[in-house]
Amino acid sequence: MEIPKKISAILIANRGEIALRIIRACRHMSIKSIAVYSDEDQNSLHVKFADECYHIGAAPPSESYLNIDKIIETAKKVGADAIHPGYGFLSENEGFAERCEKENIIFIGPTSKAMELTGDKMKCKVIMKDAKVPTVPGSDGTVENVQEAINISAEAGYPVLLKSAFGGGGRGIRMASDEKQLKQEFEMASEESRAAFGKSALFIEKNLEDIRHIEFQLLLDSHGNGRHLFERECSIQRRHQKLVEFTPSPVVDSRIREEVGEIAVRAAQAVNYLNAGTAEFLRDKQGKFYFIEINSRLQVEHPVTELVTGLDLVKLQIQIAQGEEINFRQEELKMQGAAIECRINAEDPFLEFAPSVGLVPDCNLPYGPGIRVDSYLYPGCTVSGYYDSLIAKLISWGRDFEEARVREREALKEFRIEGISTTIPLFKTILDEQNFLQGRLSTDYLERYGLIQKMIDAAEKETRKNADAAVAAFLMHSEFNQDSKLKEANSYSPRSSSGWTGLTLDRKRRS
Ligand code: ADP
Ligand code: ADP
Ligand code: MG
Repeated sequence: MEIPKKISAILIANRGEIALRIIRACRHMSIKSIAVYSDEDQNSLHVKFADECYHIGAAPPSESYLNIDKIIETAKKVGADAIHPGYGFLSENEGFAERCEKENIIFIGPTSKAMELTGDKMKCKVIMKDAKVPTVPGSDGTVENVQEAINISAEAGYPVLLKSAFGGGGRGIRMASDEKQLKQEFEMASEESRAAFGKSALFIEKNLEDIRHIEFQLLLDSHGNGRHLFERECSIQRRHQKLVEFTPSPVVDSRIREEVGEIAVRAAQAVNYLNAGTAEFLRDKQGKFYFIEINSRLQVEHPVTELVTGLDLVKLQIQIAQGEEINFRQEELKMQGAAIECRINAEDPFLEFAPSVGLVPDCNLPYGPGIRVDSYLYPGCTVSGYYDSLIAKLISWGRDFEEARVREREALKEFRIEGISTTIPLFKTILDEQNFLQGRLSTDYLERYGLIQKMIDAAEKETRKNADAAVAAFLMHSEFNQDSKLKEANSYSPRSSSGWTGLTLDRKRRS
């Protein structure tokens, strides 16, 4: 194997907060950071922060951040010896990783071969079964026709999930409660899959109920070392997409952590995984863990792990990519305290999470002990409708969950984003909710405990409180004006000749 050289310049094939995160790691390692940007991102922070920046095309992702030829051409032209893909966009595209390999550019991530296996959920599941990694009961391979789907579902037991082998980001998952629904969903899902991938690659899984999503952060180097960096509890989701992530999970003790962590490393080794990745599991009420997939990239929620381990995951990614060996043993890793992340999206939680985009005339980011904000926001920036709705991640650290929770909640109150709607009101409600406080979580947490309604009630209460305060202020003001007029009329009194005295008296009388 060719020994990779030390990386001196990284092209960041991404935008937004994750591009900034990678630029920072480059700075810390004295590596040149090279940003690329679309028409839409000319004034974006990642363009302002990078050492160099290059325009790569129009606003639609297919013409810029997904344009493989253009990105490779730019990397070669400007002398980037490595590319970091971030998350989303080309990060899990094995064709892109393969192009980088061919062009002699270091792809900061796994090999294209490993990515091909993790990118096809069904192929991956088959390998996991062989490696004795527990998986969710369901079909042994992709399901070609509706009759096969019916037979397998009858055996697995309804409800079942129809999943696309190439799904991601919560997309491509459909539920069927009975045979009739299965027939309908199967047709629709097949069509969708064919349109997107040219083939219908559906498989069936039993729909597990009352489950948690718990994942393990992994690191594997080219010297055969594999480590897990503990778990993240990601059960708070909406439509299979994560909203809040934290660690430690209330249902994972050190024995389970060690046990499932080892399974996670084994899962990654079964596909010859390299660099940072995540093994995702579902955990049922009985405490059984089922592997669902490996995400072959840096994840949105990686800061949660960074805060409790003290490690810099992007730095480690770069070191592994340039052939370095992981320099700590599994037993040396200690989990310190607790960390919580809220994904702040430019969506209106009061309006079915409709996208909310446009100018942010002003904003105020929170600071303080144990607070980290990963965001591309600045006063006067624009949130584009072309890209991911994630605009900020608010992450808190505390010595224990309670300290992290209070810090997170108070920071949410300080966070002000003008001009657009965000998911902050929902997080304020969650952070004070009894079931959340007691760690009673499941992937249907939002619906199960009526969190949206709780948020609406809280907002109405707040509006009423503000209205009452406004009325009180108005009354006070008009009363004061009347008082002043009276005093003006009685201005023969030597004391009331001074407005200041009048005000003082006025305040005193009311208190
Ligand atoms: P995580 O596991 O870190 O939560 P997600 O699965 O939510 O990651 O995906 C990370 C980002 O990548 C998200 O912002 C999502 O929009 C994007 N993404 C992931 N998979 C896809 C996909 N198949 N199509 C489009 N976007 C995707
Ligand atoms: P994606 O690639 O879109 O992230 P995943 O397979 O990781 O898809 O699943 C995303 C989410 O969907 C999980 O976190 C969980 O909430 C739900 N889910 C997936 N598989 C199952 C299952 N078999 N039963 C119940 N829920 C599931
Ligand atoms: Mg997933």
